[in-house]
Amino acid sequence: MVHATAADNQIRLMAAVTTSLVGEACRRHRTFPTASVALGRVLTGGLLLGSSLKDLEKITVQFHCEGPIGNIIAQSDAKGSVRGYVTNPEADVTSMNSYGKFDVRALVGGGTMYVTRDAGFEIGLMKEPYQGSVPIVSGEIGEDFAYYLAKSEQINSAVSLGVLMKVDEDEASFNQPVASPEFSLERLRVAAAGGYIVQMMPSADEDLINHLENILSDTPSVTEMIRSGLGPQEMLETVLGDLEISLLEETEPRFYCQCSRERALLIISALGEAEVRDMLVKDNGAELICHFCNERYQISAEELLELLKEYGEA
Ligand code: ZN
Repeated sequence: MVHATAADNQIRLMAAVTTSLVGEACRRHRTFPTASVALGRVLTGGLLLGSSLKDLEKITVQFHCEGPIGNIIAQSDAKGSVRGYVTNPEADVTSMNSYGKFDVRALVGGGTMYVTRDAGFEIGLMKEPYQGSVPIVSGEIGEDFAYYLAKSEQINSAVSLGVLMKVDEDEASFNQPVASPEFSLERLRVAAAGGYIVQMMPSADEDLINHLENILSDTPSVTEMIRSGLGPQEMLETVLGDLEISLLEETEPRFYCQCSRERALLIISALGEAEVRDMLVKDNGAELICHFCNERYQISAEELLELLKEYGEA
């Protein structure tokens, strides 16, 4: 992932190739193809917004959708870590849209997009979190990010987010116009994912804005560029044409969740003695599943007994 500027800081740029992390997210959550595309776009958009964060800041993007996918959540930090999920991973649509792509809009429907920025929680310098929200105007995700940036942060932006799903073993069979039962979970994988954001700073002059609008309307798709082997900086160079780019920062994005066995035990402990005793008596253990990464934590009867002892000591 890169964060860059161009035209004497009149343009700010972010771009990322997220193929493997989107692949991991989709494997973890066992998302169906259209849900995979939706989740991958939100994860990538969240990462790109997070690329300008400072040290301990976090950004959470939530799509509360009226469509069958439910909520789509992504949380990212300044180091390029992102985690996220959808409430209904098996939400799917059987037909492609008129462009021959997975119909993300049909899964998302309307709703509201929320962006929360918070900082410093870990070191006790709790800053008031910032939250902005806008209605979901498109449902294709990229356009919704652009709308959010324009309305809520007053930054005119072009946002392009793409996820290409491909049948694993046979490349030729992908370009079927209609999704068929052959598009099973096992056979489709994330073949390319990534995106970029081009932002006009308020100082940008009229000529530059017009020039950008012209070239942006004529760029290849993100997944085409990634499939042809371009990295994030090369994507920006392709998009911006003759404008020179100066790189500010480069990070290695990854799917990363902060959950752990210790945190799982803390959560159970916080439920209180009566609840823990109940788990022990009724279920002889407990199971916790992390929403963000779908990791399962099996807590044994012995561990619950250990927690009960701690209540006694407190
Ligand atoms: Zn987790």
